[in-house]
Amino acid sequence: MFEISRRNFVVGLGALAIFPLEKAEPDLILHNGNFWTGNSRLPRAQAVAISGGRFLAVGSSDEVLHLAAGKSRKVDLGGKTALPGFIDAHCHPAVSGRMHLRQVDCDLRSIAAIQGALRDRAAKTPPGEWVLGFKYDDTKTSDGRMLTRKDLDEAVPDHPVYVSHRGGHTDFANSLAFKAAGVSQSTPDPAGGNFVRDSSGQLTGVVNERAAEAFNKVIPSSYTRDDYREGVKLISKMMTKTGITSVGDTLGSPEDLQAYQDARDTGDLGMRVYCFIGWSYIDRMIAAGVRTGLGDEWVRVGGMKQVADGAISGRTARLSQPYIGQPNDYGTFSATEEELYEIGRKAYAAGWQLGTHANGDIAIERVLGIYERINREIPRHDPRFRMEHCTLINDSIIERMRALNVIPTPFSTYVYYHGEKMQYYGEERLKHMFALRTFIDAGLRPTQASDYPPGEFPAMMALQSEVTRTDMNGHIWGANQRVTVAEAIRVGTINGAYASFEENLKGSIEPGKLADLVVLGRDPFKEDPSTLVTIPVERTMTGGKWVYES
Ligand SMILES: [Zn+2]
Repeated sequence: MFEISRRNFVVGLGALAIFPLEKAEPDLILHNGNFWTGNSRLPRAQAVAISGGRFLAVGSSDEVLHLAAGKSRKVDLGGKTALPGFIDAHCHPAVSGRMHLRQVDCDLRSIAAIQGALRDRAAKTPPGEWVLGFKYDDTKTSDGRMLTRKDLDEAVPDHPVYVSHRGGHTDFANSLAFKAAGVSQSTPDPAGGNFVRDSSGQLTGVVNERAAEAFNKVIPSSYTRDDYREGVKLISKMMTKTGITSVGDTLGSPEDLQAYQDARDTGDLGMRVYCFIGWSYIDRMIAAGVRTGLGDEWVRVGGMKQVADGAISGRTARLSQPYIGQPNDYGTFSATEEELYEIGRKAYAAGWQLGTHANGDIAIERVLGIYERINREIPRHDPRFRMEHCTLINDSIIERMRALNVIPTPFSTYVYYHGEKMQYYGEERLKHMFALRTFIDAGLRPTQASDYPPGEFPAMMALQSEVTRTDMNGHIWGANQRVTVAEAIRVGTINGAYASFEENLKGSIEPGKLADLVVLGRDPFKEDPSTLVTIPVERTMTGGKWVYES
């Protein structure tokens, strides 16, 4: 392993290398490639030498092949393009991996199809046990309406059923599920959430925000420690296949942290994890003396995560102007200002980075006010406050973010994948949403972020969405926010590393950094932007090992 402080560069031949080279025997040399390095000192290269999971040298094929020693394996990339591995700075891998293991994937195109999938699962489920679904999205079903309690009762009358919306802030329950949760027509709504009722006061089946807690309390968690690890293994395979080598898990629990470590120990973790801890666990973590940064280059404790408002895909983000077609609907807050401040201050004082989910402009302003206050009260060098999603912005938000160097983590694939939801926001508002161009021009460092399961994670989909601002049906949303291919790649690589304080460790292809990269079937710089999403990921490498090969 090479100490960063021992690093020197041999620039004479145009190659960059760790010095002294005579001590280094590369394990692996990738040559005859088209490397986009992300390193301004040597932006393009043909070859890399790798040793101990890190890049040892980067340069021309001739220069790097010259370093080959007896044990060096050589791989000819056949001129293929290689980029630094992508970093999905905001997603929910551990929990979605467990969902994929056990729950019904409701990403289907009609309510009838969802009913069918739930019915099939119920037939295989012992009577009385819960049937759970995830990734339901009302805007992607042909019915033009939300799932109801009645739909679920029709499909599955003998089991409690609970289906979560892809947006993550709304769920759907059948009658047995309400009964199991002890919720009836006369149950009052809890703070920060509600059980939606129709004009006659009947429960519709829709459960918003913190009203979900009534169900979470009674849905038995039947996952074993092995299931937790298996979930991580599954999602790691799914994500690395699309070019991702690092993730920020932005709402982890202590059990998730354990699961990532277990998967690492069994060799099943193909991507690095910066694991945010949800606010409800923070007291346990602080009591144990844990703070942001603890861990290693595979599994590291991230910041503390809180949630200020609702979701973009679920149309509950807290906006200054109402949703289009719903004149009295401005979205919802999910926590009070005092709650966010009290918990945030406590964690910050204990050495935690803060990441707060805020989609709507009103919610973002609230969180900025809290960050400004905490920063005044507890000054710290380089705090890297994160604004998770940071979807709808205005000029004053940008000014305040610049002053505090706040990191935005806007949705990378929403324009492309969730285009049909943009009608609720409208053309004008879209000019100020997922505002990559504005963030970059302001000198901020936005990251790539799928928010999976709400959003899709393939790295090439993120590039296409950010470069074209065009949805799957060809509609353009907010063309003023387009960025170049190079900018989109930087957002997805080095900026993600910065957001976890790891920009000296990863995010570009340069000597001394972790050997994380992706080999593509075609060159995104030569691709028509409208087909970037179709570029095949041929191989993904994390720490000098292929974690995916097509
Ligand atoms: Zn999220």
